[in-house]
Amino acid sequence: MYFCYIDESGTSDIPGNTSHFVLAGLSIPIWHWRDCDGEIENIKRKYALGSSELHVAWILRPYLEQTRITDFSSLDHRQRRYQVECIRKTEILRLQKAGNPGLYKQTRKNYRKTEAYIHLTFDERRNLIREVAQCVANWGFARLFAECVDKIYFDPSRAPQTIDEQSFEQIVSRFEQYLQIMGKSNPSSQCCGLLIHDNNETVAKKHTELMKGFHQRGTFWTRVKNIIETPLFVDSQLTSMVQIADVCGYALRRYLENGDEELFDLIFQRADRKDSIVVGVRHFTHSACTCKICSAHRKSSP
Ligand SMILES: [Zn+2]
Repeated sequence: MYFCYIDESGTSDIPGNTSHFVLAGLSIPIWHWRDCDGEIENIKRKYALGSSELHVAWILRPYLEQTRITDFSSLDHRQRRYQVECIRKTEILRLQKAGNPGLYKQTRKNYRKTEAYIHLTFDERRNLIREVAQCVANWGFARLFAECVDKIYFDPSRAPQTIDEQSFEQIVSRFEQYLQIMGKSNPSSQCCGLLIHDNNETVAKKHTELMKGFHQRGTFWTRVKNIIETPLFVDSQLTSMVQIADVCGYALRRYLENGDEELFDLIFQRADRKDSIVVGVRHFTHSACTCKICSAHRKSSP
């Protein structure tokens, strides 16, 4: 039995504020689950994160308050946290008086989302995410599936599906094909898969409906025999492995949008391959794209 943890990165809105939308799924066999979860917990412990969620887009932002504190990196965690909180409280009070409710609300949200990580310098936060990505790279048993949609090349007036539908159908098809191949190599046991998704009400409803349809009619590419049930929706705050899917989606999107290779090169090692050609991760874009994903798709076997 395999779990496939799914998360999205960027927005599927057109145009939205990102050029790409990525839906990523990381599959692990259930007999490795405990070890994987334990490794991630160890990394969190090393960075004094307790049970905080790893939300990579918030972790890797520059926190301006930190740059305003003298010798921030030489302070201990408690002092760092105290000083950042002082600056933030002052700023919140200032914005409250300034009569700009939009900015006030946004700033409060930024502070809330980054609160768990303010005791770490930017370099430490980068190391944290790199360690997580390295961990995933080392999981030889894990497989990455992803649909990365370049929204510039997605024409909603001509596409038969929405970006969300297309992406979900791709992930389901590839995960299913992977399970069928794994099942053939071990015919004595049926190879089952279960999708586990971060809980988000609108996505939950949509993906549940789509999955019911796939069970009845198959996807465009395959019948669905091995993935069981509709996706399970969990609270990503409580489930480390969904947070790892978030890191994967982020690494793919940042590579395609900004050319950031460090995290991508680690995560992409786990992309599902058949005869050394990447089949699990697709970049939906123009046909002349030379990115590492498109190149790995075209690469002929050695
Ligand atoms: Zn490409």
